[in-house]
Amino acid sequence: MSASEGQGSRTDRPVRHDILFEPVKIGPVTARNRFYQVPHCNGMGYRDPTALAHMRGVKAEGGWAVVCTEQVEFHHTSEITPFIELRLWDDRDIPALSRMVDKIHEHGSLAGIELAYNGMNGPNLYSREVPMGPAHLPVATFTYDPVQARRMDLEDIRNVRKWHLAAVRRAKTAGFDLIYVYAAHALGFLHHFLSRRYNDRVDEYGGSIENRIRLMREITEETKDAVGDTCAVPIRISVDELLGEGGLYKEEVEDMIGLMADLPDLWDVTLAGWENDSRTSRFAEEGAQEPFIDGVKRLTTKPVVGVGRYTSVDRMASLVRKGVLDMIGAARPSIADPFLPKKIEEGRFEDIRECIGCNICVSGDFTMSPIRCTQNPTMAEEWRKGWHPERIRGAESDKPVLIVGGGPAGLEAAQALGKRGYAVTLAEAGTELGGRVLQEAKLPGLSVWVRVADYRKMQLTQLPNVETYFDSRLSAEDVLSFGIPRIAVATGATWRADGVGHYHTQPIEIEEGAAVYSPSHVMAGTMPEGGRVVVFDDDHYYMGGVMAELLADKGCDVTYVTPASEASTWTRATMEQHFIQKRLIEKGVSILSFKAVVAIGPGNASLACMFTDRIEEIAADSVVLVTARLPDEALYRDLKARETDWADAGIESVVAIGDCLAPATIAHATYAGRRYAEELDAEPPAEGVLPFKREITELLPLTE
Ligand code: ADP
Ligand code: SF4
Repeated sequence: MSASEGQGSRTDRPVRHDILFEPVKIGPVTARNRFYQVPHCNGMGYRDPTALAHMRGVKAEGGWAVVCTEQVEFHHTSEITPFIELRLWDDRDIPALSRMVDKIHEHGSLAGIELAYNGMNGPNLYSREVPMGPAHLPVATFTYDPVQARRMDLEDIRNVRKWHLAAVRRAKTAGFDLIYVYAAHALGFLHHFLSRRYNDRVDEYGGSIENRIRLMREITEETKDAVGDTCAVPIRISVDELLGEGGLYKEEVEDMIGLMADLPDLWDVTLAGWENDSRTSRFAEEGAQEPFIDGVKRLTTKPVVGVGRYTSVDRMASLVRKGVLDMIGAARPSIADPFLPKKIEEGRFEDIRECIGCNICVSGDFTMSPIRCTQNPTMAEEWRKGWHPERIRGAESDKPVLIVGGGPAGLEAAQALGKRGYAVTLAEAGTELGGRVLQEAKLPGLSVWVRVADYRKMQLTQLPNVETYFDSRLSAEDVLSFGIPRIAVATGATWRADGVGHYHTQPIEIEEGAAVYSPSHVMAGTMPEGGRVVVFDDDHYYMGGVMAELLADKGCDVTYVTPASEASTWTRATMEQHFIQKRLIEKGVSILSFKAVVAIGPGNASLACMFTDRIEEIAADSVVLVTARLPDEALYRDLKARETDWADAGIESVVAIGDCLAPATIAHATYAGRRYAEELDAEPPAEGVLPFKREITELLPLTE
């Protein structure tokens, strides 16, 4: 029996949450409760169909009454290579989708498919077809592809309707219960037809609201006629493009919804483009969409679902009670905790792993790699590695474990090993658990990140076999004296202050008397001197931008220098870049792109141009170098140096995990902690065998 089996039988939830467990009728199908996993991308798509099927299955197991796919490209004339989504181009795609449906049905949930024709969002780099949209316009991608979409004529429109219908029939064959008409997020041709921003047509598909919704109406009617007896047909629509009257705006979209009020079986309402609908906690609070979606329910008798990174249970219940939503939609909260509904149902609030709104999950899609999550390190590993967010196999030996360092890596290892049933000692140098998360959560906009520590601390309180010691900065001598056989060193990392990062691989010239700081200094409370501060960001994730923001808030005159073209450039993958740059500009930070700090003197910094190598000197009372981190690996190194003493001390293994091994994101650290816990006492894979499962493309016979 696994250590955590048997958990979850309590049903002492407050009565006020009962409303969340009422069934909801959606056309011809019924959802068993109000928890609805809306479509979300995951970077697995057509490349990793079985891994994806298992990931969705775990959501169903966790109690989500409806579990949807990501967007599914339904015809080869519209695809968004290099992004990896699901495809339903012909019958050969059906088995992969059926596998997912089966996994969802296994747990009594409904399976939804979001059929998408990206139109002018896809440059069709794979199929090499000419993209189509309502107007002659450059394709709208993130990369300014030098490709234009052509204006669809009436025959094109008839064709796309035909293709949609063929996909609808295939989706039904695959077993789906809900088949979407997708008109949201500016990510598909239906949205483009709705919005005057893209639709300048003068035929019956352009101009008036009635004309612009015509295609959405036709497609919805055709879908309902084809499968409406057994499948529900939701429409997903953006309630506002946040562009004023130049784009879709609330009143206009409400008119559109009013005109089609009860035609679909459900309205799935979203806000603007994806980057606005899934804003990080740094830029939007829980429920930021509420003012926009409030009111939709008055326009229809059909159920309404919407998202808002909801993890507060009282708020969810009140949204239903107030008549804002019928179903609580979630992408990110369902990723961070696939068992959120079950835990609410059983009143196990202390076990909820709340999403921190960091959008590392989104970066999976943007980097075309399997989705990962800061809070849920088992995400996408359900099949690849056999990990489960709630279950872990029992201990396979009675040998205790010492974990040194209570940051995300150490905490995750401790709680997962505790659940396996091992005797665990967790030693932390400080007086609190959380490591880097505690410090970073104090920075502007990052307070929600403390949930990484909170969830794990709460789990530890339920594990009598894990003992935590504070004020315990351990030396190698200490560790040897304990005689605990297995040791994981999770002592973290420190920001370096010598300029080494992506651009400089050697320390830069820093003159005596120069005032130079790293984020570690700033987070420890040592603030840069003087008013003119240069922040050199050669890390490119959030820290450089956050430092600039913090110092601007303190009244410093901040110049932000980056070798990249824009601030915090990697945050394009978390859809934050635009918001970060906007905030820095609004706070008066001056941004110098394509420049690197190459030398620092007292009162000045020398910058090199990335293209010409030309040097300019600017005044700087102090410089904050946000470039890279160095592992705090002294303990690990000392222990390795004393390997000959291990046997006498009863030590079998010493492993460095998380930032102590190689600094990376917090998601990497929780993953590293989980991996250590999962692999303890496991047989390592045989030589030549991969540590994860994968699928490879089927080869067709050579016909030449
Ligand atoms: P990670 O992200 O890999 O978990 P963190 O930097 O967040 O790393 O956490 C490292 C934790 O380890 C910090 O809380 C720090 O106080 C603690 N720590 C560092 N060195 C020692 C040590 N020698 N003994 C015990 N704890 C340590
Ligand atoms: Fe939430 Fe971050 Fe996990 Fe995404 S990666 S689900 S935003 S905690």
